[in-house]
Amino acid sequence: MNRRTVLGIVGVCGASALLRRAAGVPATGSDGSSDPPTVVAIVEYSDAGVRVGVNEVPKIVKTDAEWRRQLTSISYQVTRREGTERAFTGATWNGHDKGLYRCVCCNTALFGSDTKFESGTGWPSFWSPLDKQNIEERIDHTLGMVRTAVSCRRCDAHLGHLFEDGPKPTGLRYCMNSAAMRFVNGPTLGASTQASSRLDPAASEDAAYVNSRELWA
Ligand SMILES: [Zn+2]
Repeated sequence: MNRRTVLGIVGVCGASALLRRAAGVPATGSDGSSDPPTVVAIVEYSDAGVRVGVNEVPKIVKTDAEWRRQLTSISYQVTRREGTERAFTGATWNGHDKGLYRCVCCNTALFGSDTKFESGTGWPSFWSPLDKQNIEERIDHTLGMVRTAVSCRRCDAHLGHLFEDGPKPTGLRYCMNSAAMRFVNGPTLGASTQASSRLDPAASEDAAYVNSRELWA
């Protein structure tokens, strides 16, 4: 393949991507092609728990070998193999510090300490995610049960499961794995009035969550 051929292919791929973006059709890359990664809208938070805004970022796709190199054994098993850590063994099931729980694979902000509660299960449990836009929920039929699996929207890391026996105000229990998340201390700040005023109502599906941010401080 000569240089001109290579440039020609790059040009075609580039044009294809532009056309796809113009048409609003995401690239899947599922056929193993070199399509650009799918773009997802992720809500960014500072480590202090302040909502910064919504960023369009490429979905993170890595090979199995790359994930193995990046992650500890337990984090790999949980996030990339949909495993579950043993109850009462994770780093944060009994954590009470204020702060953020970020995806161990891609650092996306997932949960805040203000919605964490004592579930008695031995897994870190929350009654709401930081923002539903940052997670995916899907029906999971494994182990002979029908459950709702929860994953990171940006990198598809398996995080845990969602149950409907949680406390008020949502009645939900996000039963997560410590190994799927990285805890970041954020002891001083809740959402400021200024940050709240920047919230996009269309992007905020969970009004209870918005209110919860004000309880953090
Ligand atoms: Zn992630």
